[in-house]
Amino acid sequence: MLYRYIGPESVRVRASTEPRGTPIRSLADLTDFARREPTFSSEGATFVVLEDDTLRLAPRRSEHVACASGAPVRAAGELALSLVRGRWTVTYCSNQSTGYCPDPACFGALATALDALGVARPLAWTSSFVLRRCELCAQIQVIKDEVYECAVCGAALERG
Ligand SMILES: [Zn+2]
Repeated sequence: MLYRYIGPESVRVRASTEPRGTPIRSLADLTDFARREPTFSSEGATFVVLEDDTLRLAPRRSEHVACASGAPVRAAGELALSLVRGRWTVTYCSNQSTGYCPDPACFGALATALDALGVARPLAWTSSFVLRRCELCAQIQVIKDEVYECAVCGAALERG
C-alpha cells in the first residue's frame, strides 16, 4: 500500500526546498549517516520507505514529505538505532508521521527494508499510532480509545 502526503499544503511547499532524506542502501550508508548527523545517536531519525523499498533517513525534526521528496511512501515514522555487540539494532520505531498518517500495518514495509540491510529489529512497532486527517477541518489527530471523531469540529473520522 502507498500513502500520499495529506498534511498542510504550506508544509509541503516549504519542504520542497529542504534537502531530501539520505538513501540507506547498505550498512555502510547507515554508518555514514550516523557519523554525519550529530543528533542521530540521541534522537534517532525521521524515516520513509519509498515505493521501490528504499529506506531514507533524515534528522529527527525533518518533515517526512521532505525526506521523501514529496513522493508517496510505503511507510513513514521515527526510527532509532544503535550498535549492539557490533550490529545495528532498532531500539525504537513508530509509524508517527502526521504528514502521511500511515496505518500501523505499514510495519511490513519497514521490516522488509531493514531485513534487506541486515539490521536487527523487533517484530512490531515499539510505539504505534492511528492517525487521521479530518476531511472537514483538515486537523490531523491521534485516535485514542477507538474514538473516530474529530476533537476540533466533531466530524466523524474514517475508520479505515
Ligand atoms: Zn475536524
